Amino acid sequence: MYLAASITARGQTPHQNTLLGTLEIRRHALIDWHSLYTDDFMYQSRCWEGGCESYCCTGWSQVTRSFSFMEQGGGPLLPLFAGEYEFLKHSGLLQDTFEETHRCKTISLKNGAAFSIDMVTCKLGGVCSDHGWRPSICRLYPFAPAVTLEGEITGLEKMNLYDHFWEDLEATGPCTIVSMSPEASGGFQRLCKGLMQDPRNIFLFMARSLFVQSVVDSTREQQQLMTDATPGEFFSHWEKLYLLGKLFDKDQVNADLTALYEEFALRYGDPFSSPGSQCD
Ligand code: SF4
Ligand code: SF4
Repeated sequence: MYLAASITARGQTPHQNTLLGTLEIRRHALIDWHSLYTDDFMYQSRCWEGGCESYCCTGWSQVTRSFSFMEQGGGPLLPLFAGEYEFLKHSGLLQDTFEETHRCKTISLKNGAAFSIDMVTCKLGGVCSDHGWRPSICRLYPFAPAVTLEGEITGLEKMNLYDHFWEDLEATGPCTIVSMSPEASGGFQRLCKGLMQDPRNIFLFMARSLFVQSVVDSTREQQQLMTDATPGEFFSHWEKLYLLGKLFDKDQVNADLTALYEEFALRYGDPFSSPGSQCD
């Protein structure tokens, strides 16, 4: 499960734009999408031939086959970064199924503000309409950057929630990419830095990290989940606890996201008023 998004503001913001904030937004708002998409960044050429059964493109099938209710066989739900859907649509670079599956998810915060996320479902099963049209989230997987409010990359995290648990289960995850070459690291940093030219994407990276870490920590506190389970047993049990709300403190995550949003509003004025999303 990804948590990443293209974000636009709705409702009130906790702080009005300052002149400084407005200037910051103008300076950061535009992403050079053409340049990012020209850079056909991959960690490893033809990585899907290593036996993963296109795990990331099939919606984590080696996990979801143990589920009874969530995400089975429909393809991965892919969040797009701020402005990305609009760029892809206007440039004719949308993969088949993206237009028909596109939707906006709005998350309301405790302070009355809200942000929306462009989402698409990929039903291509690992065969892109065009390899060069892969959205940024597909290029980044299996890694995500740990970032500061200023957009500085401070480390590397696992993008996908489920991938945090393979090691706990003493099992090998399906994705065979476990490290980055120096060249791949350069491509990863170029992509992340390019995306973070829009501060909404800094928020997105931080919000993803916050949510994933919260679920991972709660999962690890569930002792009965972590003992002597096969991956299939673990994920079957995990799904039920997740749906019962035992692995996700909704109020606490919302409070944390609200605090993050307010930090962004202080730093960038109103970072969520930048143009570039079909969610507007
Ligand atoms: S767009 Fe391509 S890389 Fe991304 S999930 Fe779909 S098939 Fe896989
Ligand atoms: S990124 Fe990982 S899971 Fe996705 S195709 Fe490559 S090896 Fe398979």
